[in-house]
Order: sequence, then structure tokens, then C-alpha cells
Amino acid sequence: MSRVYNFSAGPAVLPEAVLERAASEMLDWQGSGMGVMEMSHRGKEFVSIAAEAEKDLRDLLSIPDNYKVLFLQGGATGQFAAIPMNLLRGGDRADYINTGSWSEKAIKEAKKYCQVNVAWGADEKTPMHIGAQSEWQLDPKASYVHFTPNETISGVEFHWVPDTGDVPLVADMSSTILSRPVDVSKYGLIYAGAQKNIGPAGLTIVIVREDLIGDVLPETPSVWDYKVQADADSMSNTPPTYGWYLAGLVFKWLKEQGGLEAMATVNKRKADKLYAEIDNNPFYSNPVDPACRSWMNVPFVLADDSLNDAFLKEAAAAGLSTLKGHRSVGGMRASIYNAMPEAGVDRLIEFMQDFARRNG
Ligand code: PMP
Repeated sequence: MSRVYNFSAGPAVLPEAVLERAASEMLDWQGSGMGVMEMSHRGKEFVSIAAEAEKDLRDLLSIPDNYKVLFLQGGATGQFAAIPMNLLRGGDRADYINTGSWSEKAIKEAKKYCQVNVAWGADEKTPMHIGAQSEWQLDPKASYVHFTPNETISGVEFHWVPDTGDVPLVADMSSTILSRPVDVSKYGLIYAGAQKNIGPAGLTIVIVREDLIGDVLPETPSVWDYKVQADADSMSNTPPTYGWYLAGLVFKWLKEQGGLEAMATVNKRKADKLYAEIDNNPFYSNPVDPACRSWMNVPFVLADDSLNDAFLKEAAAAGLSTLKGHRSVGGMRASIYNAMPEAGVDRLIEFMQDFARRNG
């Protein structure tokens, strides 16, 4: 077996120890005589797996008791619709901050359900910075304020938490959740597709303050009704059981690594050294304001983009996989989630130096 360093933006690399454990339990989970994929979601085995995963996530993020944790399907994209359906609560408008492509997608979907006020970013073509909150035109009558703490495509990340007073703050943490500690009490709702820092695609996690749920738009499908799902422990229909189990293994692995403080230290170090190489080597560049560069997704371009194909080909031959930038921006992107070992970033930097020397 030879595993590569996989820089995919998602689905993305998972901790090897987690995959090994899942492989060893594939046919027989802890003496039950069946694999997790084959279990009834209502049986005592799976119910214990589900409860333990939730407990570990609550521990990792210090989630207060007045928040529900939901394990759903439909991806973050499903949440783009579920959020207005659940959180308008009789209101008809919401604030959105536009820091890039994923914010825009969330805005487009929300417009089907309410009046959207783009409180910052409406005039930015491709934001490479984040406006200070003093520049935001927040609507005091908004039912919530939505933002995207980490834009996976452009690599623009908030390193601060907006203060929206009594208006609930809603965060699409798909590509940053579990990369550092979060004060959950500052948010009304946090959501994330699993396929970057949590586990396999097909699972979506929603963490929502209890008092915000239960007043949905009348046409809301019941699988998207947070109260229905919360009352049913996310089992109003069959949940994504295998993804839930795998997420649980990832949460255990994160605890073993020392939790989110420890992850943040390593993640910052990994990102800092990669940006240092990009900034110090004239062969590479990154257009994002240094104050809001992502720790998780590091896009960069080569000084001569006619060398892109050669870069990708030689990188792959050196065991560095999936570095091609998103089709909308081109260039390269290294996604360096929790499960990317620091040695992978070191290897990438060495390769970048070598490639620049040979082609510069
Ligand atoms: N939001 C962000 C920040 C993302 O990175 C992604 C996926 N790359 C999505 C939303 C969409 O997620 P999904 O494909 O799970 O619907």
C-alpha cells in the first residue's frame, strides 16, 4: 500500500488511524457479528455509537447544554435552504455577508425564502479581504446574520467572530469546523458538511440554540425541520449511520491529539510555513489579505501559468496529490485540514522550492 499526501478540498484526507480502525471493524463491530453499515439505526449498538459521537463532539467544542446537535443529510447546500425555513421565525428578512463563492450560493438559495440584505460584500467581485464589522450595513430587523467563516475556494477566513448582538449569528463552518476552538455560545447556529474535517460525505452537522427551533415556514419538509429532528435524536428518518460512526472515530482521534487547542497550534504552524514559502519565493503568490488567509485552504499561483500542468504532474509523481485549484480560479490549492500531517506540508514546500529552482 502506498498512500499519497492528498490535498483535496473535500472529500478530503482522513486520519490514517481512523481508517485502520474502521477497516478492522468493517465485518464485525465489537463482537456484534455485524458491520456498522448493516446495523439498524434503532438497535442498541448503533444508538450507543451515535450517542458517544455526540458526546465527544460536545466535549471537543464545549457545546453548551442549550444547544442541539443534529446529524443530518443533504450537505451544507441543503442547509442553505433549511436555515431560512427554520430561522426566519415569522420574519421575512435576513442579513448575509458575502466573502466568496460559498457565501454567494447561500445567498442565492436564501432569496427563495426571504428578502436578503447583503450587509457586506455586495460590491466585491471576488473578495480577497473581509470588511471590518464597522463597514457592515446590518439590518436590525433581520431574523439572523449568515456568514462563511472559511471560503474553501478562495481561502479567505475570518480570524474573528462578528458581534451581532441579539440577532442570531449563523455560520457555515464546512471547511473550518474543528480546526480550532470555537465559543459556540456566540452563535445561533453552526453547520458543516462532514467531508473535510469531520468524516465522509453524506453527513451534515448542525449545532443550533434550542430556543431558535420549532417555528418553521409551513412548507418546510419534516426532514429539514430542526425541531422534528431534535425531538427524534436526528432519527426522524434513517440517518447516515456509517458517516456518523466514522465522524465519531474522528472525534476520538481529535481528543487523542489533545483536542482543538492542540489542533489549532499545529494548523497555524502548517499554514504559516506554507504562506511563508509562497510569500518569500518570487515563483509563487497568493492574493489574499494576510489578515484573513485561511489555515485550511491555501490557494497559490505560479508566476508562469504555462507551467501549471508540469507542476501538477511532477507533484503527483512525488506523492503530492490533488493540488489543482478550483476550476473557477485556476492555479493551485493545497487543502491542509486536520488530517493532513505536518510532514505532508513539509514535503509540499520542499517540492515547491525544487520546482522553482528548476524552472525559475
Ligand atoms: N459551504 C462550504 C464553505 C463548502 O466548502 C462547501 C463544499 N465544498 C459547501 C458549502 C457545500 O457543501 P455540500 O457539497 O456538502 O453541499
